[in-house]
Amino acid sequence: MTTESFATGLRCIECRANYPLAYRLECEKCRGLLELTYDLEALGRRGPEVFRGAGLWRYAPVLPIARPEHRVTLGEGQTPLLECPRLATVLGVKRLLVKFDGTNPTGTVKDRSSATAVAAALQFGYRVTSVVSSGNAGSSIAAYSARAGLRSLIFVYEQASAPKMLHMAATASDLVIYKGVYDDLIGHWDRLVEEKAFFDCGASRNAFKQEGKKTLAYEIWEQTDFRPPDVVVAPVAVGETFIATVRSFRELTQLGWIDKAPLMVAAQATRANAIARAFRDGTPLRPLKIGYTVAEGLAAGNPGKKGEWTLRLLREGGGLAGDAEDEEILGAQKALARTEGIWAGPTGVATLAVLGRLLATKQVDPAQTICVIVSETGLKTEGEVPTRQGTAFDYESLRDLVLSRLAPNSNAPHLLSSPPRGEGG
Ligand SMILES: *Cc1c(COP(=O)(O)O)cnc(C)c1O
Ligand SMILES: [Zn+2]
Repeated sequence: MTTESFATGLRCIECRANYPLAYRLECEKCRGLLELTYDLEALGRRGPEVFRGAGLWRYAPVLPIARPEHRVTLGEGQTPLLECPRLATVLGVKRLLVKFDGTNPTGTVKDRSSATAVAAALQFGYRVTSVVSSGNAGSSIAAYSARAGLRSLIFVYEQASAPKMLHMAATASDLVIYKGVYDDLIGHWDRLVEEKAFFDCGASRNAFKQEGKKTLAYEIWEQTDFRPPDVVVAPVAVGETFIATVRSFRELTQLGWIDKAPLMVAAQATRANAIARAFRDGTPLRPLKIGYTVAEGLAAGNPGKKGEWTLRLLREGGGLAGDAEDEEILGAQKALARTEGIWAGPTGVATLAVLGRLLATKQVDPAQTICVIVSETGLKTEGEVPTRQGTAFDYESLRDLVLSRLAPNSNAPHLLSSPPRGEGG
């Protein structure tokens, strides 16, 4: 199943200068970031039927990879959009949808951008990829590079969780652990990108990489029968996911395939809230010195030009921004697991914690349909196991335990007392 790409070139987001479809990271004239352009008229004439097949490459028409043999895949995309009525009740909102990107091959939204980044590396004839990562990007780029037969040079944060480290150690060609935070290394690494030492699989500039994350919003659009939610809450580190989502909804509006783009909310961790803070204070973006946050994937104190782009889209598009403390994020993680059975990592649920805050301060209307992007599986989280003390059972002791746990007045954590879904609850 092959579909053509409708990509036409690159355009500077600052001075609008146009460039052909080549590996270029910024504008020659003003150093502005570049975004991809498409022949939306031709696409519009074809209609939504142009999307065929399954997974991320279903959306090849709105991605910049022309040749099918470059379209590397591990089965990413096509993640579930889950109705969450129990959690909606807890939060007091009418309708809550969770777009759960934790089901991607390496457990995060990053697989969407890794697929197009590594495909672009193949397309432009590179043999080596590299990324500076707090864990998730490294896992993902390493896996997709291996899949494409490319060499990967992965720089990872020393505090990345053990499951992420194990995953990278297994998939990367070269794994290098760095001291400090993302911001401490990214400037130096970006200079090596200039020297063309490797293909840029970082989040700061590569438009081809960012483009893969557009598929998340295209999926939401299809999964809601072409009537997207009123509000979409997106996680923001440097803003790649946020920008890609805004761009998708803008394309869909221009294509006339939706009437109105959703209100976009940018969600950050309070410990790395440069964008939310600038938005709230009405100031330019100022880099922050940051330490550890449980939302490891959001730990960027200096979101750079992408951060500025995010801030501009928030201001121009009438969006909202917020942040949540680590304790609130861990609370949201538990609530999502207990009420809906969705086990997400702290980075993944920062959006939900921020939604809780914005509802409490009445910045978001609970009568709307709200979609929260939950961008990471909980299975990559490291933590203390509550206990490993086991019990040896015989039939009698097992029976006693089961009966006492299920006794009507037992306070053990089971949910048999609440009505089954669909029968009055
Ligand atoms: C990297 C990451 C994000 C968001 O990062 P952006 O660069 O702003 O797109 C969100 N969730 C997870 C799990 C991540 O790893
Ligand atoms: Zn320019």
